[in-house]
Amino acid sequence: MQPRILRLNKAGLPLEWLTREETATLMVKGLVLWSLGDSDIRIRGGINRHGVRSELILPPIIATHGDLKYSDQHVPAVCNRLLFRRDCNLCMYCGDKFPPDMLTRDHIIPRSRGGSEKWTNLVTACRRCNQRKGNSTPEEANMPLLAVPFKPNKMEYLALANRHILSDQMSFLKAGFSKHMRWN
Ligand SMILES: [Zn+2]
Repeated sequence: MQPRILRLNKAGLPLEWLTREETATLMVKGLVLWSLGDSDIRIRGGINRHGVRSELILPPIIATHGDLKYSDQHVPAVCNRLLFRRDCNLCMYCGDKFPPDMLTRDHIIPRSRGGSEKWTNLVTACRRCNQRKGNSTPEEANMPLLAVPFKPNKMEYLALANRHILSDQMSFLKAGFSKHMRWN
């Protein structure tokens, strides 16, 4: 997977991940206000009249003007991949670590009893614990949660959504992690 570029708004708040092509377009159009960090992310351009192919080196973090698909603080709905990453692939009941295909999404308040699909009502659980808990709440099943389920903030969400984060990008995002995020 190609590294992506972290886009900030002009106030320095992270917004989204861009592909190399999207970043190059913003740079060529002169829409990049400033950039941070060093990288060896390169993108090849056209061939000039001397027969030389141009190459652009892209910074890992850029700040831009321009429109956004979503509001600055938008965090999308839960998907299993991000939920398991939020919980570090640990079952939130027995505490064991599993590969993603052995994990399930558990509704803390079961769906049949009005439990929602929100980040704060969902945790990672192994199949055995999910089955054992069944249609009960953690209290009824006597299965206390090992950590507080939380809705990721924007920086946490961006970190969860990209499996190939460069070190300058990670230090930038980590500065905005809440105490709930158990990544070190
Ligand atoms: Zn378990």
